[in-house]
Amino acid sequence: MGKKRKRRGWYCRICGRYRSNESFTGKGRKKHICKDCAKLSGAEQASNAAVNKIINLPFSLSKDQIKWLRKKAHDSRPDVREAAEMELEMRFGTNNEPEIPDYDDDFLFDDDFF
Ligand SMILES: [Zn+2]
Repeated sequence: MGKKRKRRGWYCRICGRYRSNESFTGKGRKKHICKDCAKLSGAEQASNAAVNKIINLPFSLSKDQIKWLRKKAHDSRPDVREAAEMELEMRFGTNNEPEIPDYDDDFLFDDDFF
């Protein structure tokens, strides 16, 4: 009989769920991609992960995060764009976009996924 572990499993950054050990390969665990999501194409994974990230943004955003989000509202992927637009609207309203100073375009997150 196997002992039940307390751990809820592993977080999949693509579908944004905690999933059981069995839902991951060893390699997937490291990359936080479950078996189901590993089957998706790289483009689908990136798009899902971006949507996921948008949905999980903290309540209070830094200027960099706002800028990232606004950039995503013009993303070429419709899913990402819609999620970002919704998020912006929810947070700032449609006619009330925050003013963002122009920084250089260095990548804002250490995520090689986007
Ligand atoms: Zn997944």
